[in-house]
Amino acid sequence: MSSESVRSPLRVVVLSVGDEILGGDILDTNARGLVQRVSARGMRCVAMACAGDTLASVEQAVRRALSDGELVLITGGLGPTRDDLTREGVAAAFELELEEHPEFLESAQGGNKKLSAGGRRQAWFPMGAQILPNAQGTAPGFVLRRERADEGESAGRGESVARGASAEHGARGGVTQRVACFPGPPNELWPMCEAWLDAEFGAVPAVGAGAMQPELRLRCCGVSESVVGELLADLMDTSDPACRVGITVSRGLLTVSVRGSDADAMGIAQRTARERLGAAVYGDGDALLPEVVVQLLTERGERVALAESCTGGLLAGAITDVAGSSAVFEQGFVTYSNAAKVEHLGVPQALLDAHGAVSEEVAAAMATGVRERTGADYGLSVTGIAGPGGGSAEKPVGTVCFGMATRDSVHTRRVAWGGDRVTVRLRSVQLALDLLRRELQGVGAG
Ligand code: AMP
Ligand code: MG
Repeated sequence: MSSESVRSPLRVVVLSVGDEILGGDILDTNARGLVQRVSARGMRCVAMACAGDTLASVEQAVRRALSDGELVLITGGLGPTRDDLTREGVAAAFELELEEHPEFLESAQGGNKKLSAGGRRQAWFPMGAQILPNAQGTAPGFVLRRERADEGESAGRGESVARGASAEHGARGGVTQRVACFPGPPNELWPMCEAWLDAEFGAVPAVGAGAMQPELRLRCCGVSESVVGELLADLMDTSDPACRVGITVSRGLLTVSVRGSDADAMGIAQRTARERLGAAVYGDGDALLPEVVVQLLTERGERVALAESCTGGLLAGAITDVAGSSAVFEQGFVTYSNAAKVEHLGVPQALLDAHGAVSEEVAAAMATGVRERTGADYGLSVTGIAGPGGGSAEKPVGTVCFGMATRDSVHTRRVAWGGDRVTVRLRSVQLALDLLRRELQGVGAG
């Protein structure tokens, strides 16, 4: 491999500026969008940071970012008000003065008759900055470049990467560092940011050998995080940038993600994980469990009917969210009271008296009842204690029973979820869908 092609992926630091982010008032969605865009171009985000609306906070955050990355992407703090201090903070970190660019005074005016002192500040930039016009608003962005004398810890790691997305070496042998500042409002940020990234690094995503590859995912249900962690322990070497396997969990759904720069190694890791996780995997990429269930029912030309208690229609909602569900969804009952379970599903009163509404016996009767009364191929039921009240020693809050009835069988499942009411209900929806998915795929329970 020639030395020209042995380059390390560009190290990117994303910095968001604003007290509203530090204070937890808004979610830092700009950072996520920036990471997605640089990853698609084969660069590697190594850190995300947030600075408050003070000069010292911005300056310090920029200095820290420059010690870690070759490309620093900043959003926010470019507006006209006194708390918009990104221009000043970046200039201070670069030890530069600000200078006025009169050609931007008119756009800074933003259609107002008179230009305020604050508005005027939007035409001030650190000396030598490249200005990025703002077609959507009044505050332009800007870019500063410098050559870092030492190569730092980041360069020359021998990973090969496509041109444009890699660290560049300047005339004095150091690494070129860029700090690009964009406005905070997303409608102003994205057109400006994408135009600059295209101009600077090329429009075509640099997904060549060595560049960061698109993330691979496996979606799982009916298996715990710790079990998956044990099954995949040897794949989860977090120190390897070429292929890293991670696990995230949200309300009973588990995602195994494979990130890195080595497409072959990532493919092997994904295949290995899929084999080991077996029936727990319901899809890959962005697959959604309700979509998978509707797809499976559609392929078989079969229909499902639902009998819900503690999920109060959420299960029906999840299925009918899917376009095309009318072909597979027969009917759903929300039978919250015992009387409704008796009247609409034919659950024997004696069964309710003997076992209580939250029991596998009643879940089975609800599932068979709804299947028989509607003529659907499958009857699926949920009955549980979502809390916060209503629990007992025998049946604590979070106890949920499920019934899955087919033409010739009925099976049940009882779980004890932790978590609050919202979590109990949403996890129950996912597990009910997964029971149906496993029935349709002819694979065992989780
Ligand atoms: P600023 O440029 O700091 O005046 O930010 C203006 C507005 O942009 C804020 O009030 C937010 O609505 C939005 N904004 C700024 N930073 C972010 C961010 N990191 N993520 C999402 N929205 C943001
Ligand atoms: Mg701000």
